[in-house]
Amino acid sequence: MVQLLDGKEISKVLKEEIKEEVKRWKEQGVNPKLAVVLVGDDSASVVYAKSKQKVSDSLGIDFELTVLPADSSEESILALIDSLNANPDVHGIMIELPLPKHISKERVMAAVRPDKDVDGVHPINRGYILSGEEGLFPATPESCIEIMLRSGVEIAGKHVVIVGRGETVGKPLVFLILKHNATVTICHSRTPDLGAFTRQADIIVAAVGKAKLVKKDMVKPGAIVVDAGINEIPGGICGDVDFEEVKEVASLISPVPGGVGSLTTALIMKNVLKGITLQRKEGQ
Ligand code: NAP
Repeated sequence: MVQLLDGKEISKVLKEEIKEEVKRWKEQGVNPKLAVVLVGDDSASVVYAKSKQKVSDSLGIDFELTVLPADSSEESILALIDSLNANPDVHGIMIELPLPKHISKERVMAAVRPDKDVDGVHPINRGYILSGEEGLFPATPESCIEIMLRSGVEIAGKHVVIVGRGETVGKPLVFLILKHNATVTICHSRTPDLGAFTRQADIIVAAVGKAKLVKKDMVKPGAIVVDAGINEIPGGICGDVDFEEVKEVASLISPVPGGVGSLTTALIMKNVLKGITLQRKEGQ
């Protein structure tokens, strides 16, 4: 009988832990604060920013949203980031994507102080993922690991097949999961006969962006299936795994919604708190 990797339940526990940690920082005179920058009025970004505000409020984390007009110059965005970098009351900075076309995403992302980069996108944090050093890492791949660990899954020694080598999920996940001593195979759009690889997996992580790509006949009986995908379909969203089919063969599976995606905002808030510790090490 399949069991769910229940992101909603895990998120509740995680949030309680974060609340306690926020309390402890406040007792030491530190008010954890997240600053979010939104350039333009992309409707999805507005929704994401508002949802982060709601979660911050519920956890006792201060939240500051700066909205810049869509025709802002790159220099004005970089100037705002500089001031947030230098502000000791701000512990985490997040730039909502997408940025307007005339702005260099790479330049803007690289301008955020690595120890305030709660999205884990700065080249230095990317380097820390490779080297195994402590840094701020992206929430979605972290969520794929957290949802397993908190459900009692032993990752060490398992063969993990990751489907997708995207910059946001698949690629960072390779190194984060290697740290947990798994054997890792990574597949992508040029992998011939995807099923031949996924059928060898003890754990499949799907991070593709193709609705219901992973089917029952691609999964070894008893395998663990983690679905990072979010795909819009009529009437809602679905993952990269055909949940209804795959739940018949998997031992554990994360649903969409209610799985990996349920943990990501909480993990961004956890990065705000980790940032405080890293900034203290740097002497801010
Ligand atoms: P991405 O950058 O577009 O990468 C997609 C990857 O999937 C690429 O490596 C691509 O291969 C591979 N791919 C495409 N079609 C394939 C196929 N038929 N067979 C095997 N591999 C295939 O995507 P991403 O940003 O990493 O995101 C991946 C998924 O995670 C998306 O569904 C996204 O919505 C979701 N996501 C979820 C969250 C969350 O909070 N839960 C956050 C971010 C993203 P190539 O490299 O060869 O092109």
